[in-house]
Amino acid sequence: MNIASLHTYFLQSSGVCTDTRKIEKNCMFFALKGENFNGNLFAQEALDKGAFKVIVDETAFHKNTGETILVENVLLTLQQLARFHRKNLNLPIISLTGSNGKTTSKELINAVLSQKFNTVATQGNLNNHIGVPLTLLNMNKETEIGIVEMGANHLGEIKMLSEIADPDYGYITNFGKAHLEGFGSLDGVVQGKTELYQYLKKHKKKIFVNANDLKQLNKSENSERVTFGTKHSDYNIELLDGSHQLLVAFNNTEIQSNLVGAYNFANLSAAIAIGAFFNISAKEIKVGIESYTPSNNRSQLIKKGTNTVLMDAYNANPTSMMAALENFKQAKGETKIMYLGDMFELGKEAESEHQNIVDFLTENSFGNVYLVGSNFFKTANNSSHIKQFETFDELRETLKTNPPKNATILIKASRGMALERILDFL
Ligand code: ATP
Ligand code: MG
Repeated sequence: MNIASLHTYFLQSSGVCTDTRKIEKNCMFFALKGENFNGNLFAQEALDKGAFKVIVDETAFHKNTGETILVENVLLTLQQLARFHRKNLNLPIISLTGSNGKTTSKELINAVLSQKFNTVATQGNLNNHIGVPLTLLNMNKETEIGIVEMGANHLGEIKMLSEIADPDYGYITNFGKAHLEGFGSLDGVVQGKTELYQYLKKHKKKIFVNANDLKQLNKSENSERVTFGTKHSDYNIELLDGSHQLLVAFNNTEIQSNLVGAYNFANLSAAIAIGAFFNISAKEIKVGIESYTPSNNRSQLIKKGTNTVLMDAYNANPTSMMAALENFKQAKGETKIMYLGDMFELGKEAESEHQNIVDFLTENSFGNVYLVGSNFFKTANNSSHIKQFETFDELRETLKTNPPKNATILIKASRGMALERILDFL
């Protein structure tokens, strides 16, 4: 079946679904394959639960009833459908990529733009080769602006996602040490992320650039740029107070965010600049930003018992870990405690990157440190204020017998460490 005909069915359907546990009546079920599952096996269940069409790629599951559509490859078909759909939508799309801060920036941009426009943005963290197509397929004739988060852990991925989403605007949050395993090195990360710039440059589209970030400035040279962040840029945003929830100013308007962590200044600035670019007033931008409260253990400020917790257990990599520590160093509080967990996906850099963190903490003493995980456990450490635990279970014993009191606490680790469990002991 050609994509145009498939698209006609799509327009008659209630949307795309990929999980039979969450089927919506009249949806198009795409039988995707994962590492541990084969969607083809669920095709019949999807139909029984009211799917309009099912798209399969194994002949054994193809029935000649008109409801099943057999294709070469379900994933490729989903991507082609998304691309076709996007080409038929007459709306600007803003794409975001970068090592850290994509989801936070996306949520903030969406909070601002939705003050005036009917927006569709990536849901949660659905930012990969499946999530991007699904995001595009959520847009329709009523959508006025699309905001698409793009994630990558290897070269070529952002190029591929850009070709599907065909963005009109782009923003790279930062170039950091995330997913070193797949990209090989920091150079690889920079190259991977700039695939978005290259796409936009080639198609004469605009790029938003944080003028405080030299890497962004250099990498975006010769592109059509909208700059922000300094007095000499198109939009100047000021940080008034970064010690707690960030307070910023734009166009003589004070904006009180619900975000902690100095690194969020960049995320806030991007959202404010993009809002202003789309002619949203400072007053409306303020309403948008102030309405956004982070969830999912991302940069949350939590009061628990007598303690104040900076919860950042959503994820971690060397760049965001360092940013969080630099920030925590400045934080107020007489007793400061850090619970830091392993950073994943670092490949052969794992040992040195964990050691770097321990060295930084040894040279800069600003509180007691509890390191958890097999990587941190292996680091060399002769500092009495740094304690190492191989597993969470070992840390749990210490937490039980000696829970912190009246402390300012930073919790940061890769998602898999689930360090938010510490809250139960405070
Ligand atoms: P993912 O790769 O999981 O999609 P992401 O890029 O969407 O991550 P967020 O979910 O917004 O990033 O933030 C994750 C964490 O990254 C935050 O909790 C914070 O520790 C850190 N972080 C956020 N913004 C920045 C930034 N601008 N610079 C450095 N670190 C940041
Ligand atoms: Mg994300």
